[in-house]
Formats: sequence, C-alpha cells, structure tokens
Amino acid sequence: MRHTGPVCKQCRREQTKLFLKGDKCYTKCIFEKRPTPPGMARPQRGKPSAFSIRLREKQKLRRLVSMSERPFERLVEAASRAHEASGTHLLRTLELRLDNIVRRMGLATSLKQARQLVRHGQIKVDGKTVSIPSCTVAPGAVVALDPGSRDNVGIKLSLETAKRLNARPSFLEFNEAELAAKIIRLPERAEMSFPVNEQLIIEYYSK
Ligand code: SF4
Repeated sequence: MRHTGPVCKQCRREQTKLFLKGDKCYTKCIFEKRPTPPGMARPQRGKPSAFSIRLREKQKLRRLVSMSERPFERLVEAASRAHEASGTHLLRTLELRLDNIVRRMGLATSLKQARQLVRHGQIKVDGKTVSIPSCTVAPGAVVALDPGSRDNVGIKLSLETAKRLNARPSFLEFNEAELAAKIIRLPERAEMSFPVNEQLIIEYYSK
C-alpha cells in the first residue's frame, strides 16, 4: 500500500533523510530536529535481526521511489531474471524512470514534484509529450521541459536548488538553454541516487 500519512514520518521510521518534500528537506527538515522513530522517545536498543535489517532496507528504497508493494515486487522479480547483478539492475531501472530523470535534471526537487510535471504533460521525450512517470528512458533519448512551462515558478526554484547543490549526474548531458538532457550512457552504481544496500533488498525477496 502507498503511504498516505505524514511524509516526514517515513524518514524517521527509516532513520535517514529520504528527501521526500523537495526544497523543505534542505531548509526545514523535521528529521534533523526529531530523529527518533515514530512512537519512540529514543532510538531502539538491541541488535536488529537479519530479517529486520533486510526489511528496513527494502522499505527505505520503496519509500524513496514512492511505490506500492506489489509493483515494487514485480520490479524485483524482473531484476532477478536480468543478465547482470539483480540489485544493480533494479536500481538502474529505477534510476532511468522518467520521473527520476526529471528530478535529476533539476526540474523538480522531489520525485513527487517530478511526477506531477510528467502527468501534467510538461515533459517531452524526443520531442513527444510523455505523461507516464514510470516509463523507462533509454540511453540516447532527450528529455526536455515543454517550452510553455519555462515560466513555472516551482521549476525555476528547483533549477536554482539544483545549481546550488551541483548534483547532476554525469550520465546526463544537460543543456541549460534548452532545459533538456540527453542520457548519454547507462548510469554507474556510484551515480545512482539511492543510498541503499541493494543486495539486502534482493535477499529479502529471495527468502
Ligand atoms: Fe524527510 Fe524531507 Fe521531511 Fe526532512 S523534510 S524529514 S528529509 S521528508
């Protein structure tokens, strides 16, 4: 089921900043003030079980990409049939989703904002409007902001944040004048934006 409660609780539950709220995560982060898990006055004592470690890692990634359990499970199943390490394949698939590419271009500061841009028809792939956030963008494709959305205040703010953070990955060739990016190659693990141990996630599902 997709999380519908307070967003910041998810960071407190996973004990790490998941950057789910865009700009606010850099300015007014609740996790920095209250880093304890929800419902607990202090961090849990004792060593977590092997199952719990794997479960938390899986939940962390699922929350980062804001996916329900069943579609996420299907992605893991597909990754386990790939001709490369399952964990790497899973993260690469998530990294190349259109909503994530829009976020990494700096047109949005959270995946939620990026999804909204895609759903509202503000994003073009190779010149054509694509409104499905989960579609995969292949190397060679060019993702661009629709010229009619250039004056959008939210996008301008996101671009400023992206400039400040200087975090655009090198598998994207960003054209600042066109607000477009070409995917020049597949992303390397170090360039992917998911701070998880993917092996633990694969192990969780192979139990
Ligand atoms: Fe997480 Fe962002 Fe909320 Fe901080 S502000 S707790 S990073 S969602």
